[in-house]
Amino acid sequence: MHVMIIGGGTGGMALAHGLKRSGVSVAVYERYGSRSDGLYGYRVGIDPTGNRALKECLPPELFETFVATCARTPRHFNILTQRLHTTASFEMRNDTDDVDSERSVSRSTLRQVLFTDMDDVVQFGKVFTRYEQNPDGTVTAFFADGTSATGDVLVAADGTRSAVRRQFLPHAEIADTGVTAIATKTALTAQTRALLDDHVRNGLSLIFGTKGMIGMLHVMEFRSDAYNARDFINLSVWSSHEHFPAGTDKQRGAELIDTALRATANWHPKLRKLIELSDPDAAFALRIATSTPVDPWPTTAITLLGDAIHTMTPGQGVGANTALRDAALLRHQLAAAARGEKPLLKAIGDYEAEMLPYGAARVAESLDNNGTSGKDPLYKPVTGRLTLFAARSFFSVTSKVPALRKKFLDGLYAYRGTDEVLEAASETL
Ligand SMILES: Cc1cc2nc3c(=O)[nH]c(=O)nc-3n(C[C@H](O)[C@H](O)[C@H](O)COP(=O)(O)OP(=O)(O)OC[C@H]3O[C@@H](n4cnc5c(N)ncnc54)[C@H](O)[C@@H]3O)c2cc1C
Repeated sequence: MHVMIIGGGTGGMALAHGLKRSGVSVAVYERYGSRSDGLYGYRVGIDPTGNRALKECLPPELFETFVATCARTPRHFNILTQRLHTTASFEMRNDTDDVDSERSVSRSTLRQVLFTDMDDVVQFGKVFTRYEQNPDGTVTAFFADGTSATGDVLVAADGTRSAVRRQFLPHAEIADTGVTAIATKTALTAQTRALLDDHVRNGLSLIFGTKGMIGMLHVMEFRSDAYNARDFINLSVWSSHEHFPAGTDKQRGAELIDTALRATANWHPKLRKLIELSDPDAAFALRIATSTPVDPWPTTAITLLGDAIHTMTPGQGVGANTALRDAALLRHQLAAAARGEKPLLKAIGDYEAEMLPYGAARVAESLDNNGTSGKDPLYKPVTGRLTLFAARSFFSVTSKVPALRKKFLDGLYAYRGTDEVLEAASETL
């Protein structure tokens, strides 16, 4: 059996490692020309679901590299006002377990780790354009450079704007949530460190600003300088599109930094200083998108994983974790088919029957957060003030009442995989 994966992102590469470990022939086709192209080093939070899937798929020594290249685990989850007043602070668990912990990883570092020892599997500079299904059940993928490749399975792991999905499930739509986000990245230096109080520097902080402007601040301090990791601060701000000039998502560099500064004109000078000192080349803006639910389809040799089938807002920070969960599950199913334990189409069908409901659930939960839709009352002039007061009060009360605090923290560390499936998978490896 030969598996072709379109897209060498988080989910595609985890699947490729898992299949390689199971002895299944696999090839990854990635549009970018090299392992470091086209990426910004923003923080991705890998939770117990993602950790477990990575542990399943990666060779043990590469999983160790992943753990070693993560940033220090945040010790506090803070709720701040735009004037840097702390309205709530939750102490997070200590990072003592490889799996049952929340890890902060730079997306570009994770990508480097995932490309390690995969030269025989990954082909760079391959822009997928279309596929054809052949009478013998195989699939042929065509690329922009005029080449093609044929295999028994085609996996769409090509992200939100998936070209495979556009051909395979043309009715599966991606909706604009009405929210624009700007992400900035600032080097952690003596000067920028001095701008942050200890609990902010050692934590991740959600900033509920007035006038419908929300922010998130993460500090990434690495334990080693492997893969050229340099400590940095991520400060992102977001609001409904109307709060930013038209075309903000196309802006880059100094122009974008200037837009972020104008959007945060009433924020504390220390926060604005971080934006001012940020690296213009690393700033980017996004219109936040979300998948619309799609009904099950007749199973074929083409399937999808990650953002290609369930793009979600960053509201809960579970997009990459869900892509990793898909990868572990699909690897388990395809490896079972390769061993002759079930027919290939049954294996793909079993994967899709499990993945579609949990994918749709994560998409819905990710939309159901303060401020993840442009229509949220938070962004309206009058209701905005009341909603802001309610949001700040919710976190303040939750942080002070032990039972509510525990429930909130348990939710952060919830494992969202099906233990039985992954445990069965590890037994058969
Ligand atoms: C600012 C931000 C913060 C986030 N924070 C978190 C977080 O804290 N936790 C979390 O779990 N998730 C987070 N996410 C979401 C997470 O990054 C994505 O859900 C995850 O990367 C999806 O993985 P994927 O493998 O499906 O797609 P991707 O990682 O996007 O990979 C898709 C790959 O396909 C390639 N590709 C695309 N088109 C083609 C083509 N035609 N031919 C060949 N290759 C192609 C791309 O180059 C890319 O390498 C965040 C996202 C953003 C934007």
